[in-house]
Amino acid sequence: MQYAVGVVILLIVTAGYAAYRGRMRKPAQPETRTAGNVISMESHRKAKREAAEQVCSSCKKKNGKLIFYAQDNGTIVGLCKNCQDQAKKRDLLPL
Ligand SMILES: [Zn+2]
Repeated sequence: MQYAVGVVILLIVTAGYAAYRGRMRKPAQPETRTAGNVISMESHRKAKREAAEQVCSSCKKKNGKLIFYAQDNGTIVGLCKNCQDQAKKRDLLPL
């Protein structure tokens, strides 16, 4: 009986300590990092959505999702599926 009471008290103390630690730890958590991840994911989705709406840099048509390539002069072009062969011929690197 004494042993059972001791275990229960130990559990209560442990749970209370864990709750106390959990409360104490909360303000120290890097909340900005979490928010940063959320923002970056949203901007990533936005960029993806915009990529589907942009016109191809080569044929100037809205032809679905564009693949972006970096050119030798540092500029970036977005090419549709039809124009990707041109990029491959010019050895452009997909971003
Ligand atoms: Zn095109």
